[in-house]
Amino acid sequence: MFGLIGHSSSFEEARRKAGALGYDEFAAGDMDVWCSAPPQLLETVSVTSLTGKTIQGVYIDSCFVPEMLSRFKTATRKVQNAMELAQKSGIAITALGGFTSIIFENFDLSKFQQIRSTTLEWERFTTGNTHTAWVICRQVETNAPHLGIDLSTAKVAVVGATGDIGSGVCRWLSQRTGVGELLLVARQRQRLLDLQSELGGGRILPLEDALAEANVVVWVASLPQTLTIDRERLQHPCLMIDGGYPKNLDTKAAGDGVHVLKGGVVEFFNDIDWQMMEVAEMENPKRQMFACFAEAMLLEFEGWHTNFSWGRNNISVESMEQIGNASLRHGFQPLGLEPVVPQPLAAAVA
Ligand code: NDP
Repeated sequence: MFGLIGHSSSFEEARRKAGALGYDEFAAGDMDVWCSAPPQLLETVSVTSLTGKTIQGVYIDSCFVPEMLSRFKTATRKVQNAMELAQKSGIAITALGGFTSIIFENFDLSKFQQIRSTTLEWERFTTGNTHTAWVICRQVETNAPHLGIDLSTAKVAVVGATGDIGSGVCRWLSQRTGVGELLLVARQRQRLLDLQSELGGGRILPLEDALAEANVVVWVASLPQTLTIDRERLQHPCLMIDGGYPKNLDTKAAGDGVHVLKGGVVEFFNDIDWQMMEVAEMENPKRQMFACFAEAMLLEFEGWHTNFSWGRNNISVESMEQIGNASLRHGFQPLGLEPVVPQPLAAAVA
């Protein structure tokens, strides 16, 4: 069985969802109620691969909301409790979705393996970041040419280049895709220098300068809500892959030759009878999902019961290729841009 640990995108949305599911106490509850709420196993689902293999899975809501990020103890407890519930439910492989993998890594939760009477077994969990990195790279490779962008000469900025997903993306784009030039963006300079030396290239730039030069921008950092982007300074055309969470780049940048694509999202070949992706605001929630969740499914389909994606900056092009091949085999496709619909002649004349 596979598991997915997720959370709502805001406190307001979490209360709305609780109301819709009949959890009236939580729907009316204030932040204190939510801080002490235990994780909930909300849904079980059965999924059949393109190969015909059927697996079972569950969705666990950690009852974490992003407004809790500044509360170290609460955020930590939410992730640990959800992991404990997954393990106690006998789930072989569970993906840590949304902020839960970031909390796990940033707060160094691997130091705390004992949760009450449960010793967490790390091989039962994956961050899903290897599949996410592969999906994002394929989104770059397949969509840039549709916009007339030649990747062999293009400048590709990776915002969050030194992160777990970002560094995997940089490795793939430089070793496999062979882009014109990589522009590396993050805040901590030493980590950027280390990455640059590992890659044997790439130019380190502040965000604004990278945005002005880039034909493709891969966002794999959670950026402040207050961030503004000067559309006038962007290249036209420009492909932006919004791989961060929450996905809010379209409102800041899309339009007039700037194409924003939801990054790290895959579409399954068949409908899945679940509710969980409706709350994640997927356009086609029966088929679309975060690539990190899909990684847990792939590991279950393949019987690879191992923490495939774990720790920071361990993602290799070989492991990306391995999970990418499994992704295609079982019927997942990276989400693409909407096909450009030509204007009808009459409308164009009018
Ligand atoms: P990491 O914490 O490993 O990396 C974050 C990166 O972003 C680092 O390079 C960090 O470097 C950089 N960064 C953070 N803040 C800023 C800023 N204000 N300006 C520029 N750079 C910044 O995270 P992950 O790689 O695990 O995840 C990256 C993003 O992807 C997250 O938003 C996560 O929620 C999302 N994600 C999406 C998935 C999906 O859509 N399928 C699945 C999993 C994750 P520095 O601190 O030096 O600035």
